[in-house]
Amino acid sequence: MKISVVGTGYVGLVSGVCFSELGNQVICVDKDQRKVDVLNKLQSPIYEPGLTELIEKNYREKRLEFTTDLSYGVKNSDIVIIAVGTPPLPNGEANLLYIEQVATEIATEMNDYKIIMTKSTVPVGTNHRIKEIVSNLTKFPFDVVSVPEFLREGSAVKDTLNPDRIVIGTESEAAMKILTDLHKPLTDNIIVTDIRSAEMIKYASNAFLATKISFINEIANICDKVGADVTKVAEGMGYDKRIGAAFLNAGIGYGGSCFPKDTNALVQIAGNANYDFKLLKSVIEVNQNQRFNIMEKLKASLTTLSGKTVAVWGLAFKPNTDDVRDAPAFEIISELVANGVKVKAFDPIAQENFRTQFNHPDIQWCESPLDAAKDSDAICLLTEWDVFKSINLFEVQNVMANPVLIDGRNVFSKEQISLTKFDYKSIGRPGIK
Ligand code: NAD
Repeated sequence: MKISVVGTGYVGLVSGVCFSELGNQVICVDKDQRKVDVLNKLQSPIYEPGLTELIEKNYREKRLEFTTDLSYGVKNSDIVIIAVGTPPLPNGEANLLYIEQVATEIATEMNDYKIIMTKSTVPVGTNHRIKEIVSNLTKFPFDVVSVPEFLREGSAVKDTLNPDRIVIGTESEAAMKILTDLHKPLTDNIIVTDIRSAEMIKYASNAFLATKISFINEIANICDKVGADVTKVAEGMGYDKRIGAAFLNAGIGYGGSCFPKDTNALVQIAGNANYDFKLLKSVIEVNQNQRFNIMEKLKASLTTLSGKTVAVWGLAFKPNTDDVRDAPAFEIISELVANGVKVKAFDPIAQENFRTQFNHPDIQWCESPLDAAKDSDAICLLTEWDVFKSINLFEVQNVMANPVLIDGRNVFSKEQISLTKFDYKSIGRPGIK
């Protein structure tokens, strides 16, 4: 099939590349000339395991093109995928400016029947709005279909090629058949719904996962008080098939470009329909407070923060990504420097992205976890990168001024910690040391 993808970010680029890997002819369009230049040099503008190899392969096999020319993309494809960002407005609602701009541009460039397939996460009713915009501007036939995206950054290629399910929200039998054929090589779990339900499935899924995280974090906070171990509690819960083991890792809470934005947007969607989504509001509040849990533990170990040096291990909102959007590290580091702490920061991949968005004279950027730990009074581990999991803790404690380790992701086991000199604190595991 001939496909164009508008927006080559984490979703659009990975989707476009994976559709070309399945043998489709794909044109990836982005208005950001820098991104397109990088892609035409067969490099990836984002860090995503396995992506560069697939870009190179499919470009060389002439199934994949990159351009800023939306007209070229639209005219030379049957399916146009919208994958632009839907960032939050100050009130939490999704900003649909990019979606509306793209819908307008697509409409004016159409030359034949097109399927417009929306992958961006958009509030209920948005695809009908896209339909309205396009129908006001074109005489050509078209269908608008909602196919929400569920990939996770850090494993986006794998997730796209092996999705748990594909949701197709459409009013058109013809579009449904074409998009079912497009996705059939990926999975048999194809759920066809009306458009509004497809839009809601995406928000409900993210809100549910966020709820699981805030739930286990509250259980962890109680475990801290009553002497239970949240990792054992989660294991014991997770074997129950009705609960499931995923998303029961206690820590400093969720971040990233999706969960914070989508939970806030769903609260707004509900509010606009005169429904007070109390549960989700609490999930958001719990998550916000959880980021500062680590500060309390740090204060308990260091007594005073002013004048201390603290190593921060991990800046990305999760491992295996360079994405720092809404990463807990921003607020935690802000709080540290506001308390007179000198921060020594290290992240194996996201450091540059973080530094361009947040620099401060009291932050020293380090070249390795050990470099960050050197002469520090404490380490705060914020992201569970493998490089931290496999580190030699004896070497680390020996270069520190004071061996304090606050593990915000429960990375280290009792066995790893017990022989060290560390004053070690984690989330919901008070018995570890
Ligand atoms: P992103 O910010 O990484 O990428 C968006 C891209 O769209 C940018 O490269 C931007 O330059 C481009 N763009 C904006 N306006 C354009 C226009 N008029 N013409 C051409 N290009 C344009 O965003 P993302 O993380 O890929 O997210 C995209 C959508 O997918 C969002 O709605 C998001 O909520 C949803 N989503 C994201 C993820 C994720 O893990 N990132 C997962 C599932 C769903």
